[in-house]
Amino acid sequence: MSGRHDKEKGVNVQVLLRCRPFSDDELRSNAPQVVTCNDYQREVAVSQNIAGKHIDRIFTFDKVFGPSAQQRDLYEQAVVPIVNEVLEGFNCTIFAYGQTGTGKTYTMEGECKRSKSGPNGELPPEAGVIPRAVKQIFDTLESQNAEYSVKVTFLELYNEEITDLLAPEEISRVTLEEKQKKQLPLMEDGKGGVLVRGLEEEIVASASEIFTLLERGSAKRRTAETFLNKQSSRSHSLFSITIHIKEATPEGEELIKCGKLNLVDLAGSENISRSGAREGRAREAGEINKSLLTLGRVINALVEHLGHIPYRDSKLTRLLRDSLGGRTKTCIIATVSPAVHCLEETLSTLDYAHRAKNIRNKPEVNQKMMKSTLIKDLYGEIERLKAEVYAAREKNGVYIPKERYYQEESERKAMADQIEQMGVLIETQQKQSEDWRDKYDAQVHQCSDLSTKLSATEKNFNQTIKLLMSTEEELKKCRYSLKERDFIISEQRKAENALAHQACVLRSDLEKALQDNASLYQKIGREDKLSSDNRSVVDNFRTELSQQIVSLCNMVATSISQQNEHLQCVQDLGNSFLDRHRKSIEELKKKLSSSRAVYISHIEAVQNVVRLHNAGSIAGLEEISLLASSSAQTIKDHLASEAGQVSSIFDELQNTLSTHQGEVALFAREMRQRFHVSSEQRKEVSEYMNGFLDKILEQCKSLENHAVQADAVQMKNIADFQKAYEEQSKSDAEKLVADINNLVSNHLQRQKELVDARLVDLRETATGNKAVLDGHVSSMEYVSTDAKRKWQEFSMQTENDAKDIADYSVTKHCRMESLLQQCVSTAGSAFKHWEKTLDSVNEMGNNHVSEIGISYEKCI
Ligand code: ADP
Ligand code: MG
Repeated sequence: MSGRHDKEKGVNVQVLLRCRPFSDDELRSNAPQVVTCNDYQREVAVSQNIAGKHIDRIFTFDKVFGPSAQQRDLYEQAVVPIVNEVLEGFNCTIFAYGQTGTGKTYTMEGECKRSKSGPNGELPPEAGVIPRAVKQIFDTLESQNAEYSVKVTFLELYNEEITDLLAPEEISRVTLEEKQKKQLPLMEDGKGGVLVRGLEEEIVASASEIFTLLERGSAKRRTAETFLNKQSSRSHSLFSITIHIKEATPEGEELIKCGKLNLVDLAGSENISRSGAREGRAREAGEINKSLLTLGRVINALVEHLGHIPYRDSKLTRLLRDSLGGRTKTCIIATVSPAVHCLEETLSTLDYAHRAKNIRNKPEVNQKMMKSTLIKDLYGEIERLKAEVYAAREKNGVYIPKERYYQEESERKAMADQIEQMGVLIETQQKQSEDWRDKYDAQVHQCSDLSTKLSATEKNFNQTIKLLMSTEEELKKCRYSLKERDFIISEQRKAENALAHQACVLRSDLEKALQDNASLYQKIGREDKLSSDNRSVVDNFRTELSQQIVSLCNMVATSISQQNEHLQCVQDLGNSFLDRHRKSIEELKKKLSSSRAVYISHIEAVQNVVRLHNAGSIAGLEEISLLASSSAQTIKDHLASEAGQVSSIFDELQNTLSTHQGEVALFAREMRQRFHVSSEQRKEVSEYMNGFLDKILEQCKSLENHAVQADAVQMKNIADFQKAYEEQSKSDAEKLVADINNLVSNHLQRQKELVDARLVDLRETATGNKAVLDGHVSSMEYVSTDAKRKWQEFSMQTENDAKDIADYSVTKHCRMESLLQQCVSTAGSAFKHWEKTLDSVNEMGNNHVSEIGISYEKCI
């Protein structure tokens, strides 16, 4: 089962990884380790430092062998099953891939010197895959006691040239130039494979012979010195073991089973630039790279399932074609170094190997051959060889000059190349033709699908025709029935006309009912009128209210005018006070004039005395002068007393004036306050009145709205009622057509009921409206009484206030202040004048005394 499954789906290429231990050089230079192997989890971790970050890349393979793994471990775990499959008749290939110096050759060949091998043909521990595989094959075959033959070939692919590593000494010992000409051509074997013409096939009889062969081959392998590894090989080597085993069928026929194991040691995978190859070796490296690059491209093409796989681009891929995507079982051993200086190559090797994991092969057991056919083939070969030997010995073959031979050879090569190219062409064309065939098949398939669809459609078509016929018949029937129906309809129309007549009669009845309705509408109209009356009452109330408010405003205005009158009175009083004041001043003036008259009379008396004295005698002059001085003294005293009196009068006057002034100021302040208070009260009252008016307006509006709403509701009710009534009457009329007598009575009854119910409804709504209106009116009444009360209170208060203000106004007025000031100033000026007169009187008195003195002296 699984075998078949494998055949269909293919088996992935097995990829192993081997990491070698540090070399002595690396240990000496203390190279850091970057590769860590986890054999059990089959993982390899590579640590990298990218931009200062430590990154671990992890790869998983089918098997992983760390530095500590021995040759024996690798062989037993990885190669033994492969060799067993070879013995079962499969073709298997093992590749070693990796950078130079990572142990490819070590893994494949190992360090096997015959000298090192132990007793009984035991292998040394360093022996690689090749000697171990050969030993296992011989051990198995011998234990099976089977008849067998084992052939090995060992070739080297260098610079796209094939060299036989097992060729006899004499041939291999020619000069390098000749050696290059000795390269072996690759040929198609006619069975889809390739074969190397003239390749030595060595028959091996025992395992121990293998060492001789390996030593011989390895010695011939070309190596070139590079910087990376002194023993590094820059060539690919292919070691093949072919086994033929005889088997006997139960029928007694003898069959030959055939298996082949290819062991490939590839050239170093490193970069040409890094390997340090120079000058003459650049081409060499290029060519080596060509094989490796083509191998990479083939792997890519296989992994990505591309149509064209470039096997033919290099000899390596041509030789190993069957191992890559073919019928061979393939294993790749990738080798890496643990050291940091190989990091780049290690990563590229790991990527490459990881990619190769995805290649799928379809392994097949080689067909067993009948012994007889094999023998026949061999006989044919022997005949051919014999003929060649004969021709060589007898020299009766074709002899041609060397140049011509080379020319022909080159021509042959060119032709072979052409043939190859044509083969490629044929292949592609075959592929194309396969594609075409597939397409053709698809088309044929589509065609058959279409034809089946066509037949189905035809069937459908026939059915449809039948259906159409039956439908036509039905149509005829339908037409007939339609005619019948038309007749019935005409009859029904007649009956309808009769019914319509009866309906007219009914309509007259209904009209009567409508009249009743009209009377009802009238009633509703009266109700409407009532509500409008209500509204007008409310409007009247509003106008009255506004009138009252106007009268109130008038009253306020009159009170203001009264207050103004009061103020006028106050002013008058102030004026009268001023008049009195003026009179008192005039009295004062009169007193002054009287005192002046007294003074004048005194002066006259003095003059009279002086005249008397002058007229008297000189003797009495002494006495007279004494008298004069005494009289002067008395005058002075009199004047002083007069001045004291006058000043006391003035002081008194000033005092009364100042008290007057203070009182006037107080009065003015108080008046101002009272005015303020009264104006604020007035403001309050007007605000309140405004609010009150607004409220009344709002109430009026709401009342109006309510009236409108009630109106609308009533109208709507009426409309509804009308509509319902009409509907009902219509339906009833229809019903009446069906059942006239019965329904007329019923209808009338229902009508009456409906009307009654509606009337009750209307009455209820009317009473509800009335109640609402009453409520509004009562609220209005309440509001108006409240307003009246408030207004009375306010008028009382204003009256009181007015009285108070009148009392205060009677006593004083603010204008008196300025007048009093004038009064005081005039009094002050009078006082000054008085002082001046006093001074002048004094002066005059003194002058008089002095004059008297002079005249007295004259008299003497
Ligand atoms: P390559 O063929 O890849 O260029 P070699 O097989 O010549 O590399 O190996 C290079 C060196 O490393 C040899 O000296 C070999 O003995 C040593 N070597 C490689 N792999 C191992 C291993 N797994 N254990 C011990 N030594 C090894
Ligand atoms: Mg090597």
